[in-house]
Amino acid sequence: MERYIRNNILSLEPYSTARDDFKGGDISVWLDANESPYPNGVNRYPDPHQKKLKDRISRLFNIAPESVFIGGAGSDEAIDIVFRVFCEPGNDNAIAITPSYGVYKVAAAINDVEIREVLLNDDFSLPAERLLSAADEKSKLLWICSPNNPTGNAFPKKDILEIADRFDGIVIVDEAYADFSEKGSLIEDIDEHPNIVVLRTFSKAWGLAGLRAGIAIANKNIIKYFDRVKYPYNMSSIIQNELLRHIEAGTGNHIPETTEEREKLAAGLRKVNCVKTVYPSDANFILVKVTDADDLYGYLIDNGVIVRNRTHMPLCADTLRITVGTPGENRRVLKLFKNYKSICNETPGERRTSTVCRKTSETQITVAVDLDRNIESYIDTGLKFLDHMLWQIPHHAGIALDITCHGDLEVDEHHTMEDVAIALGETLLKALGDKRGIERYGFVLPMDESRAMVLIDLGGRIDFQWDVTFTREYIGDTPTEIFRHFFHSLCCAMKCNLHISARGENNHHIIEGVFKAFARALKMAVKKDEFNYELPSSKGIL
Ligand SMILES: *Cc1c(COP(=O)(O)O)cnc(C)c1O
Repeated sequence: MERYIRNNILSLEPYSTARDDFKGGDISVWLDANESPYPNGVNRYPDPHQKKLKDRISRLFNIAPESVFIGGAGSDEAIDIVFRVFCEPGNDNAIAITPSYGVYKVAAAINDVEIREVLLNDDFSLPAERLLSAADEKSKLLWICSPNNPTGNAFPKKDILEIADRFDGIVIVDEAYADFSEKGSLIEDIDEHPNIVVLRTFSKAWGLAGLRAGIAIANKNIIKYFDRVKYPYNMSSIIQNELLRHIEAGTGNHIPETTEEREKLAAGLRKVNCVKTVYPSDANFILVKVTDADDLYGYLIDNGVIVRNRTHMPLCADTLRITVGTPGENRRVLKLFKNYKSICNETPGERRTSTVCRKTSETQITVAVDLDRNIESYIDTGLKFLDHMLWQIPHHAGIALDITCHGDLEVDEHHTMEDVAIALGETLLKALGDKRGIERYGFVLPMDESRAMVLIDLGGRIDFQWDVTFTREYIGDTPTEIFRHFFHSLCCAMKCNLHISARGENNHHIIEGVFKAFARALKMAVKKDEFNYELPSSKGIL
């Protein structure tokens, strides 16, 4: 391996930390590293060799601890270190597949290393001959990402091994997504193929992207040099401990759910008109070819959903890369895809739509409304009964309504109810815009036996009246007393007069009647008279 390593790295005398000199013994007074002696949890330097962590990770992958390098800035650190260990700046070059992960190219540029990008075959398979023929005597590295980002496919192991056998240099296999793939890992091949470096990360399947922990796995004669080049204390003690804790607990490991959801999402996307191709995926994302990626990308953002637009990457014209989310998030994305066509046929400006994202330490909410389109709605607040009530609004007001909320339901329902009401009120107010041409008032007369009555005035002044009596403390998972607070919050956020009264026997009917009556009142009030462009106010302002 030595002949691939830069001369200055071969002869590098690495920085020796205070703790490197210490060869063991019964020490109770640590005065070797100029640390503060006053304990606060982090007053001591972390283990520069991450010994405990390396042992644990080596067991995880069934390899020797000497074959593990741990990057404290994710696998991005490992990518950079590969260039620094092997490539002479301004002289050596590296080969990489394209389209692929963007960091290889940036790291190459930072290290002043020429990168020779080789286009994948049209079916995204590995172009072995073209990769090898791009190499010359100064080609030190060959980058393969498998499963590949953004195409999603894993390459057959035998294709990669064949390239490693024939390439006179280091083959780096970035397996960031290998946990989601059934095509196997190259980790088990590092002994027989000492020129392979495998990259893994804790950012994807392990759910620890915020920790920034990535690893390189290779022959110990390579890893030795990685450890010499890295910053001595490249991973804090907090992160080392946190990582150990997560590995022990196996937390964040949602691989079965994710792969199941991936297949569901893929199947759903295949049925959508604006989707031309759903590429098979061995990862936790799906690449889709659509009719117009830029337009669909913007439309999704307008509706509070962000995906990755890959349209400008080679072989990827009009593609979007969609990460597999929670079941609720995936349903929402599918719904947006389904609605896309019907919406994009409209002339912009005809529709009154708005989206509000509201994020506090207690709740994360996205609400989107379209006052002029009765397309499919989506509601998921985590509170079953509230969802049931909120569904009355799109249904009976004839509007489209999307609500997703991740709230602190482990505390209680209060914050979710309150914040959904505020976000809904703000969204409705925003969608109304300058209010030109609206009917402004809405009311219903007493309905059915439940006698629910909701009067509304969107004039801009706030007044709230509530005359509803319940005889039960709870309906479903929701306490009845919170409904007054819900509508009061909604009323204030929407800046309207809202008078609600209801009487009845059955508590479920009473509150459902209130939501239905609210929806009807809203429908009347937001309705636009298409020939009237005036403000419904003698004052000229609302
Ligand atoms: C996400 C990703 C990584 C992980 O990077 P970290 O720095 O470990 O978060 C590595 N390679 C590819 C191809 C990725 O998509």
